[in-house]
Amino acid sequence: MEEVADGVLRVTFDLPLGIDHVHCYFLRARSGGWTLVDTGLGVRDPEAAWRPVLAALDAPVERIVVTHMHPDHVGGAGDVAELTGAPVLQGREDYEQCLRAWGPGRSTELLAAYWARHGLPADQASAVVRESDALAAAVHYAPDPDRLEPGDDVDGWRVVVLRGHADGHIALVRDGVLIAGDAILAGITPTIGLYPGGRPDPLGDYLETLERLEALPLRVAFAGHRARIADPAARAREIRAHHADRLERALAALDDEPRSPYEVSLALFPGDLGTAGRRFALAESLAHLERLVLAGRAGRVDGGYVRA
Ligand SMILES: [Zn+2]
Repeated sequence: MEEVADGVLRVTFDLPLGIDHVHCYFLRARSGGWTLVDTGLGVRDPEAAWRPVLAALDAPVERIVVTHMHPDHVGGAGDVAELTGAPVLQGREDYEQCLRAWGPGRSTELLAAYWARHGLPADQASAVVRESDALAAAVHYAPDPDRLEPGDDVDGWRVVVLRGHADGHIALVRDGVLIAGDAILAGITPTIGLYPGGRPDPLGDYLETLERLEALPLRVAFAGHRARIADPAARAREIRAHHADRLERALAALDDEPRSPYEVSLALFPGDLGTAGRRFALAESLAHLERLVLAGRAGRVDGGYVRA
């Protein structure tokens, strides 16, 4: 555990995913207790994972805030809630998506059909679904959390919705400090993907988020992965330039003949990425293609995409 700012502690867990670690944050509450933000993956033995962390705190955890429904953020929420007895707070929209992805609304058949429809070869589509099922087992979200709306106050921190990486992704702001989840990251760009049941233009959403991040008076952002971001506005500008470039490359991968999103993903992200990597690449390519369609620069034909 490391104190990264006045009243902000950071704990880091190993992650067996494409990225090897995830950060969770403890914010000093006005009462003297702690607010935990994000919870890592759900684990088989929460006692072993969390007891040493909780024992190192000088006061109890009073509430748990989840920034978004990805497994490495919401996954341990139920575990820590059980250990601490603290209530879980999650964005209303994010919780709805959480239920669609991991709850009773989850459909393996729908997922497999979605990836196959976008050109992922059958063997890879079934591998993707197998990996997704394994991941679902590590998502111990807290049922029926307190729902947060944009503008809500959580112990002096303001809730902002920063869409794109996840549809209802929330973050907390106070005195120029952003507890960012994965809305902005140092060194890597948050994945922006189109998923079944999600909002139709995640990249458009995210470009708006970047604009908002540039406009907010932020001194520093603490994110779910990697180092602190000392100049969030500058980092937002860099990420915006990155997506502008990737949009041009996605357009360049199109022609008069329909290309499947999978084919476009091979052009944008060449090489062997592994199952999870290719799924991210495909979802990310789809988000860029849909942005191009909405901008009038590409069209959808026969399940593929053409240059407009
Ligand atoms: Zn995430």
